[in-house]
Amino acid sequence: MDLDLVLLGPPGSGKGTQAAMLSEKYRIPAIATGDILRAQVEAGTPLGKRVKAYLDRGELVPDSLVVDLIQHRLSDPDTQHGFILDGFPRTVPQAQALDAMLVALDRPLDAVLYLQVNPQAVRERLGQRHRGDDRQGIVDHRLDVFLEQTAPLISYYQDQGKLKLIDGAQPPEVVAAAIDAVIRSLSESSGGPGAATVRS
Ligand code: ADP
Repeated sequence: MDLDLVLLGPPGSGKGTQAAMLSEKYRIPAIATGDILRAQVEAGTPLGKRVKAYLDRGELVPDSLVVDLIQHRLSDPDTQHGFILDGFPRTVPQAQALDAMLVALDRPLDAVLYLQVNPQAVRERLGQRHRGDDRQGIVDHRLDVFLEQTAPLISYYQDQGKLKLIDGAQPPEVVAAAIDAVIRSLSESSGGPGAATVRS
């Protein structure tokens, strides 16, 4: 089964963990814009030099930059049978650009999995991580950026009937089981309208 998925959720909601599990299970690539951008910074490429200041401050990099990056990545042959987008789209213009790309490829998204976690839990999780942008002030700013710029995607995808709510506060295996249930339900129906809350 071809599977085109988006993982949506605040920083620290477990998108990366779930993306890795899904990638292994369905043998489709997980595409994490944050990882791609950090790799560019580490390699000291011209792109890396442009984006470093945004990452350090916990700001989003410009839409056109990540849209180009995803456009190229989705033309790679390993995405032919599906992909998991982790951290993209993060703004409404990015979501619109993705929709346009997928229309051109004639492969609409199968589902947008929204990992719901409350802000306090996210702060605690990220406080235990040791990435450069996981310092408290930057974490708080990334949460604000999420609420302002990314949270509007919840209703954007709800309106398309693609949003699936997942309780991201549960342990990773339980979250994975809830996601599996959603994916199974996709192959059974062609996807009814509205959002469903899945717990297991
Ligand atoms: P997290 O989900 O924990 O915030 P990510 O690795 O997804 O971590 O993102 C880290 C940073 O990379 C973001 O704070 C932002 O600066 C940049 N970034 C990642 N994806 C995007 C995107 N789609 N649009 C703009 N900036 C992005």
